[in-house]
Amino acid sequence: MLVFERKNQLSDWARQEKSTGRTIGFVPTMGALHRGHLSLVSRAGMDNDLVICSIFVNPIQFNNPQDLKKYPRTPERDLRLLREAGCTAVFCPSGTEMYPGPVTTTYDFGQLDKVMEGRFREGHFNGVAIVVNELLDVVGPDRAYFGQKDFQQLQIVKALARKEHPGTEIIGCPTVSEDDGLALSSRNARLSEQARREAPCIYRALQMARDSYPHTPIGEIKKQLARYIETSPQLKLEYFDIVWADSLMPVERPDPSRQVVGCIAAYAGKVRLIDNLAFNS
Ligand code: AMP
Repeated sequence: MLVFERKNQLSDWARQEKSTGRTIGFVPTMGALHRGHLSLVSRAGMDNDLVICSIFVNPIQFNNPQDLKKYPRTPERDLRLLREAGCTAVFCPSGTEMYPGPVTTTYDFGQLDKVMEGRFREGHFNGVAIVVNELLDVVGPDRAYFGQKDFQQLQIVKALARKEHPGTEIIGCPTVSEDDGLALSSRNARLSEQARREAPCIYRALQMARDSYPHTPIGEIKKQLARYIETSPQLKLEYFDIVWADSLMPVERPDPSRQVVGCIAAYAGKVRLIDNLAFNS
């Protein structure tokens, strides 16, 4: 497995490989890899000749400095897991390699980046868009793989790629979870024992909400979910929204012809977790 630290070395190599007709699948990550990340690598390997993965804890997408400081970092383990997963090349840039100068780009995704995470994490999606745009420029992949776990991020990346990288297909991959329903996340490593025990309530709450939809009024479903989350002392609900999958705007009246997703963010102790569930797949 090749390891690149420089943008120009990676892009020269990737361009060379593409010129021989090989297809490239790309998986951007922030490291502290788990089975969720590896499922993207495996899917990219099925669809493409080569798989490139990036590991970069992107400082400009953290709205909370403590979250950035405490973000888990396991570089040696990550490289071993990627090698075992059959990844062709890994890109591990430093902060200055990624951002040699001041970062000033501002994106506008309409409502997509204003709702849900956008309301609580100011500047987060602009930071995500900047890093993804830069990585897609460097790698020039045929396909890039993102988890549905970050559902809002996936919709924003699709909007970004339609405009800036029409030659790259964005592929959303299913969420990988623990047996008890907790979605895998690098942040799970920071959960206290009790918060870890209670965290699966987040997924159970989503399932209950899905089962109540569409016969229970949306307002009532939201209240029921909030009450259920409150029964776990370690959990604190930040938001729960029932939205149209394409526009991310809140559903007011059910429409069976449109896809609906329930999206949640909650603290488990000090750790902020997000998850979502399709309500009518
Ligand atoms: P991150 O390292 O958290 O930035 O995540 C890198 C990629 O892995 C993103 O596209 C995430 O949506 C995806 N991902 C994170 N957790 C999961 C999961 N549990 N299942 C599937 N994909 C995931």
